[in-house]
Amino acid sequence: MKIQDYLNTDYAQKCREAYNKAKAIQDKTNATITFIDPQKRLNDKLEGRLKGVAIALKDNVSTRDIKTTAASRILDNYIPQYDAHIVDLLNKEGAVIIGKSNMDELAMGGTNLTSYFGLCHNPYDLSRISGGSSGGSAVLVAANVVPCAIGSDTGDSVRKPASYCGVVGVKPSYGRISRYGIIPYASSLDHVGYFTTNVKDAALMLEVLSGRDDRDMTSSYNPVENYSELLNADIQDKKILIFDNVLAAINNSEIVDLFNSLVTALTDKGAIIEHVSFNDDLLRAMLPAYYIIANAEATANHSNLDGILFGHREEGESTDDIMINTRTKGFGPWIKKRFVVGSYALFEENQERLFRKAQKIRRLIVEEVLSKLKDADILLAPAAPGAAPLIAGQTTDELSDESLIADNHMVIANFGGLPSMTVPMGYIDNLPIGVNLTANPFKEQVMFDVALAIEEYTGLGGAVKEVL
Ligand code: GLN
Repeated sequence: MKIQDYLNTDYAQKCREAYNKAKAIQDKTNATITFIDPQKRLNDKLEGRLKGVAIALKDNVSTRDIKTTAASRILDNYIPQYDAHIVDLLNKEGAVIIGKSNMDELAMGGTNLTSYFGLCHNPYDLSRISGGSSGGSAVLVAANVVPCAIGSDTGDSVRKPASYCGVVGVKPSYGRISRYGIIPYASSLDHVGYFTTNVKDAALMLEVLSGRDDRDMTSSYNPVENYSELLNADIQDKKILIFDNVLAAINNSEIVDLFNSLVTALTDKGAIIEHVSFNDDLLRAMLPAYYIIANAEATANHSNLDGILFGHREEGESTDDIMINTRTKGFGPWIKKRFVVGSYALFEENQERLFRKAQKIRRLIVEEVLSKLKDADILLAPAAPGAAPLIAGQTTDELSDESLIADNHMVIANFGGLPSMTVPMGYIDNLPIGVNLTANPFKEQVMFDVALAIEEYTGLGGAVKEVL
C-alpha cells in the first residue's frame, strides 16, 4: 500500500478498512497496543499532504488523551496531556492515526520480545520475530494495514525491523525531526524514524515530519527540502562506499551474493563503487561503547519513572518505598539489567574508565566514517547478517564479528547523527533482507536518490505480505 493510494480516493472507507485490518491481524501479529477508532477524526474536514492517510504511531509517541505506554508496565495507565510535535504535524497534514503500535519496553531492545504486551510476529513467517524496537510499526506497514508508521531509532530500531519485515525504514539526520513528546531512551542517540513501503513515500514523509521546533532544542534550523519532488534515480557518478568489514563478518553467503549483485547493478547504472575498510578493533568496540552510552543516558532519562512524578504508583510506607516498589514491579528484567549497567558506568569512580572511554570510542568511529564519506555519497552494507530470527531463538556468539560488526553496524549512524535507511534488497527462503544506506549529515536527498535506484533494480517498491 502506498500513500498515493489514499489520495483522491474515498479515504474514509480506506481508514476504516485499515483500522479493521489492524484488529483482524492482531491475533496473529500482536502488532498493536491501542486501537484508535478513526471515525471521530474522519468527521473533521481533512486537508493537507496526507489527507485521509491512515498512520500508526509507535507507543512511545505521546498522544493527548490516548494511552501511551512505551510497552512498559510502569506506564500502563499513562495518558499524556499533550501531543508530540510530530502528531501536531501529522494532524495538520490530514493524517488519520488508527493505532499505537507494539515495541520493545521503553524502546530498549532489538527483538520486540521485551514488550510488556508480548512479542510481535513477523508477517513473512509468524514463527519469527518482527525485530525491534519499533516492531509493531514495521509489521503494520509490511502486512498492508497502513502505508506509513512512525518508529524511533536509537541504535537501529527502525532500520533492523525494516530489514526483517521487508519494508523501507528511515532514520534521518539528528535534529531533522523534532523529538518533543517522544518518550526518550538515550537523548544523544534518539531519532524519530518511520516505515513506508516505497522510497517516494519515504521522501514525502520526511518533508512532512521535518523542521525546526522550539520545543526540542536539538531540532535543526536547516531548511527542509522538497525531497519527494526532487527525487531522482539517476545515480551517474554518485560515489558509493562498500562497507567491507560488514561483508567480511557475514557468514551467510546468499546474503553476500544478493548484495554483490545489487552492487553490480549500481555500477551498471553509473555509480562509482569504492571498497572501504574501517579499523576492526574500533568496530568491535562499537557495541560495548553503544551500550554504555545508551544505558547511562537511559538510566538518567528514566529516573522520573518512580511512581511520584510519572508511572503507575505502587504502595509503600515511605516515599523511598513507593519508588522502590514502583520501579521493582514496573520494569521488566531487561530494563533493570540495563539500568544496572547504566548506573555502574555513571558511578564517579567508573566515569572516566567507562563512560568517557565509550564517548571517546564513539568520537573515533564518527571521525572515521566522516573522513571516509568526505568525498563520497553513500556507505552501503547489508542491514543484517540474516533474515528475521525464529522466536524460539537461536544461539548466537555475542562476541563474534558477525554479532559485533555485521549485526550492529547501523549504530554508527546514531553515533554520528547521520541519515540512514534500509530498503528491501531481496528474499532468501521467502524471507526479506534489507540493504542499508548511510549518508553525510543532512544529505537525505542523495540517500533517497540512491535508494530509489536500488528500488528500481529490485522492483520491490510497495512490496507487502498479507497475513490474513
Ligand atoms: N537494539 C538496540 C538497543 O537495544 C537499539 C534500540 C533502539 O534503536 N531503540 O539499544
